Amino acid sequence: IYADVKKGPAIEVFALTQAFKDDSNPNKVNLSVGAYRTNEGQPWVLPVVRNTEKNIASDENINHEYLPVTGLDTFTSAATQLVLGADSIALKEKRAFGVQTISGTGALRVAAEFLYQQLKRNDVYYSNPTWENHHKIFADTGFTKLHSYRYWDQNKRQLDLKGMLADLDQAVPGSVIILHACAHNPTGSDPTQEQWKEIADLMERKKLFPLFDSAYQGFASGDPDRDAWAVRYFVDRGFELFVCQSFAKNFGLYCERAGNLTIVQKNGATRDAIHSQLTLIIRGSYSNPPAYGARIVSKVLNTPELRQEWMGCIQSMSSRIREMRQALRSKLVELGTPGTWDHIVNQIGMFSYTGLNEQQVRILIDKYHIYLLKTGRINMCGLNTGNIDYVAKAIHAAVTS
Ligand code: PLP
Repeated sequence: IYADVKKGPAIEVFALTQAFKDDSNPNKVNLSVGAYRTNEGQPWVLPVVRNTEKNIASDENINHEYLPVTGLDTFTSAATQLVLGADSIALKEKRAFGVQTISGTGALRVAAEFLYQQLKRNDVYYSNPTWENHHKIFADTGFTKLHSYRYWDQNKRQLDLKGMLADLDQAVPGSVIILHACAHNPTGSDPTQEQWKEIADLMERKKLFPLFDSAYQGFASGDPDRDAWAVRYFVDRGFELFVCQSFAKNFGLYCERAGNLTIVQKNGATRDAIHSQLTLIIRGSYSNPPAYGARIVSKVLNTPELRQEWMGCIQSMSSRIREMRQALRSKLVELGTPGTWDHIVNQIGMFSYTGLNEQQVRILIDKYHIYLLKTGRINMCGLNTGNIDYVAKAIHAAVTS
């Protein structure tokens, strides 16, 4: 029965992590994985998360009954408010709501299913480059017109706004446009507020549908309001849109799969119909979501003191990343490594698109045991005060070899 099943291609980021684990070299460095690491190179359970877990575990009133199909209400309302803002006009007018999903990936999948089945959308645009799962999620859902729009100017190592607008200008009305809400993965380069306005102008004129992928709110700058600026700007302009939220990075809840799909409508009268269709999509996919991560996020966001503590945690993660950006840039400049390295400090979030080419990446992996994606993307969290000199010298050697 199974004889004709062909082996599928490896997923690069997981293959690299395996290669890293198998490598016995004491100097090895993993810059590929998409997760936060402390200065000691360890995963970090946010203290506010750890304490909340303990409280939940000892709460005799909590049981393991199924959640409703669309999840825990206190979680979805807090998540929706986190991204839209407490003063959001869409919330005040009761024309926005959320459904719980299996982290950010699940939000994207449920969104894609709804757009395909209910709104009959078949054209989707994602940035070139983007998080590689965007293509797969929409293709697996059934979308057949998958397009990329220009995003990155490799020479200038910055956003190619002109190219992006030119490509979106070609999109047919109703096309779904995936936008990274903040901390673009993999480039770390976001549009400025002025550039977002130009993007919104074009999308309004061409009647394009914004689907914001928000995987790094608060984690990027340390300020959740600042990281939600683009989403809120589009909402204030009157767009109907989706936001796919992940709590993997900003709560460090990677494996707990806490996510939310926020739906913003022009008129709240469509809520019940949309909610019922999302319910059916989720029911047919996995019935109902897991409670553990959602309970933690809900408790923290809905308790002022805990929320304050969480703000401290995201600030400490984002500032460590910024310090590593400064340190790497300084060391490369100090070494006189050819090229400009300002983009490393101008980029935001977990990733930096270094501009290293495939051959240079190969040298870093094979000769220096430094693991990174072949596009030259590195996870800044993989750097720490113990390995940054080694990594900077290796990059210098790879660039000058
Ligand atoms: N979107 C982007 C751009 C991401 O980088 C990620 C994770 O790396 C996700 C979505 C979804 O992550 P998760 O499903 O773990 O929440």
